Amino acid sequence: MEYILKTNNLKKYYRNFKALDGLKMNVPKGSIYGFIGRNGAGKTTLIRLVCGIQYPTDGELSLYGVNYTDKKISQSRRRIGSVVETPALYTDMTAAENLKQQYRVLGIPDFEQIPQLLKLVGLENTENKKARQFSLGMRQRLGIALALCGDPDFLVLDEPINGLDPEGIIEIRELIMKLNREKKITVLISSHYLDELSKLATHYGFISNGKMVREMSAEELESACRKCLHVTVTDTSALARVLDSMNISYQINDETHADIYAKPAITQLALALNKENCEIISAEEHDESLESFYISLIGGGDRG
Ligand code: ATP
Repeated sequence: MEYILKTNNLKKYYRNFKALDGLKMNVPKGSIYGFIGRNGAGKTTLIRLVCGIQYPTDGELSLYGVNYTDKKISQSRRRIGSVVETPALYTDMTAAENLKQQYRVLGIPDFEQIPQLLKLVGLENTENKKARQFSLGMRQRLGIALALCGDPDFLVLDEPINGLDPEGIIEIRELIMKLNREKKITVLISSHYLDELSKLATHYGFISNGKMVREMSAEELESACRKCLHVTVTDTSALARVLDSMNISYQINDETHADIYAKPAITQLALALNKENCEIISAEEHDESLESFYISLIGGGDRG
C-alpha cells in the first residue's frame, strides 16, 4: 500500500508536556482517514506538524515518502491543502474575493477556476454576500475551497464539523466524499465524533494521550462493532458446516469459540448441530456500538 503520510515515534513536547508521545501513523493514498481522539489527545498538534506550522521534537514524519528534515519537504507540502482550527477568511470579502486573494498569495495569475471551485463547495450563489454574513457551515466550506486553490491531492481538515448544525454536517460530509471520489483527494480529518466520521471514513487512527492506540480500516471497525452471537460449542468445524448450510456468516475463533453474525433460530441450530454431534455450551449476544468501542479503546474524559 502507498502512504501519503507516515509517522514513526513522532514526538512533540511543550516543555515537559508530551503532546505527541511516539506517535505511529499511516495514512494510505486515496483514503479518508478519520483521526479520532478526545479533546487534548494531540490531533491538532499532529496536524500542525504535518502542515509545517510547528516542528517535531523528535521522530519521523514523511509526506509522499519525504522526511520532514529533507529539503524536498516543501515540495511535498505544496501538495497539501489544509484547514487548521478555524478557516482563515477575510470576513469583509465575498467568497470569490477570498479565493482571488488566495490565488494571488499562491502566485496563480488567472482566476478562471473560481466559479468552478465555488460550485464544487456549494457557494456559487453567494454573489455579493460578505463572508462575515456566512453561516458557520458556509465559512467552513469556503475554508475548504481556499485549501483547494493550489490543487492539492492531500487535504487536511482539523475538526471541520465542530459546532455545525446537522444540515451543515451533511454538506461538509458530502463535499469531502465528493472530493475523495471524484478528485481522488486523500483526506485526513480529525474529529472527536466517531459516529459522524463512521459515515465517511475508510480508515481510522485512534489517538489518546499523544499515542496511537489503534489504526484500522472501515471494514475492521465494522466487524468489531457488528452485532453478533458469541457461541461456545464442542466442535467449531461442525458448527461451520451447519452455518454454511444455513447461509449464515460467522467467524471461527478457535476449536470451541465462534462469532455468528446473525440471530439464528437457536432451537433449529441446536438440532442441526446435534446431528453433527456438536453441542452448544453457551451463547451470548454481543452488541458493540461505535461509542462503546471508542470508549473501550481510548477511555472517557478529556486531557486538558
Ligand atoms: P482539541 O480537540 O481540544 O483541539 P487535540 O486532540 O487537537 O484536542 P491538541 O490541540 O493537539 O489536542 O493539544 C494536545 C495537548 O497539548 C493539550 O493538552 C494542549 O493543552 C497541549 N498544547 C497544545 N499546544 C500547546 C502549546 N503551544 N503549549 C503548551 N501546550 C500545548
